[in-house]
Amino acid sequence: MKVKVAINGYGTIGKRVADAVSLQDDMEVVGVTKTKPDFEARMGAEKYGLYAAIPDRVKAFEDAGIEVKGTIEDLLEKADIVVDCSPGKVGAENKPLYEKAGVKAIFQGGEKAHVAEVSFSSLANYDDAVGKSFVRVVSCNTTGLARVLSILRDMYELRKVRATMIRRVVDPKEDKKGLVNGIMPDPVKLPSHHAEDVKTVLPDVNIVTTAFKVPTTLMHLHSIAVEIDGNVSVDDVISRFDEEPRIMLFSKEEGFTSTAKIIEFAREYRLRYDLFENAVWRESINFHDGELYITQAIHQEAIVVPENIDAIRAMFELADKQESMKKTNRTLGIA
Ligand code: NAD
Repeated sequence: MKVKVAINGYGTIGKRVADAVSLQDDMEVVGVTKTKPDFEARMGAEKYGLYAAIPDRVKAFEDAGIEVKGTIEDLLEKADIVVDCSPGKVGAENKPLYEKAGVKAIFQGGEKAHVAEVSFSSLANYDDAVGKSFVRVVSCNTTGLARVLSILRDMYELRKVRATMIRRVVDPKEDKKGLVNGIMPDPVKLPSHHAEDVKTVLPDVNIVTTAFKVPTTLMHLHSIAVEIDGNVSVDDVISRFDEEPRIMLFSKEEGFTSTAKIIEFAREYRLRYDLFENAVWRESINFHDGELYITQAIHQEAIVVPENIDAIRAMFELADKQESMKKTNRTLGIA
């Protein structure tokens, strides 16, 4: 029997998670929701079957000529689990609906950690989500940090991590807000909340973070410095990153001079140029005066998608960590 998955909020993350679920043989999409009868709603209706996220909007969809199969409550009746991909903080408001329907739920990184029993990132803490009913997949920045730090934690004794995030101001589809000509400290008061978020999945890592927004939509960039006791072999770090499918190494020598070039590569490589992997610059990996340096870029729209699939498997105990990650990687073309 396949696990029946509802997607509540067919936006940037929701449409990608729906497509990823539909590539798995142990789960299936039973429907998606939208609040407004826009072009995304029309596409969701054609591809997966559409339900109204807000029950009294059914007529608005019908008036727009978009076939709607019912409300979110009707959808939850068909589902074993809902992946809530609504805007940040809305997931917490939706939670009582899920509890009433008796379905499991996955929330996204825009929610506070306490919305779920556990925060999740596959490499960091897959086992913590096994059998759970409410899980939060951490944000794009946290997923990017958690992956590299999980690998380094297994290799070395990490003393302290300092990470600076240079964040894309909005996603490419956004036309209501942005930052045209400036660099915005966000937050101004440091450190940023990202370190606390990393600790929800890697509680033993001593980390401090800062963050700034810049006028780009393509990717986030992370500058990471890790204080490590003892000797570090840069070659060992590179080969361990090379072995991990969810990390992809890029080299300046090959022409990857900026995030623009990484996305240009991804445009040829994947549907919607979704880069599910951390894009780590090979040459940036360097050990100097007791600190390991890494520069990586994160495709914010895509990176949490494999983690959502793994979270479903963990929650239904369909596979252990290695098996699930392997299956997710294979089906999403992460190699
Ligand atoms: P989005 O705005 O692209 O999509 C949100 C969708 O939810 C929209 O389709 C909207 O119609 C729908 N929606 C609005 N109100 C709703 C409600 N009450 N119930 C159900 N659906 C509702 O947002 P997104 O970028 O996909 O973000 C979704 C979540 O994923 C947020 O928690 C966000 O923080 C997190 N996230 C976003 C990114 C990113 O870069 N876009 C990366 C990682 C995590």
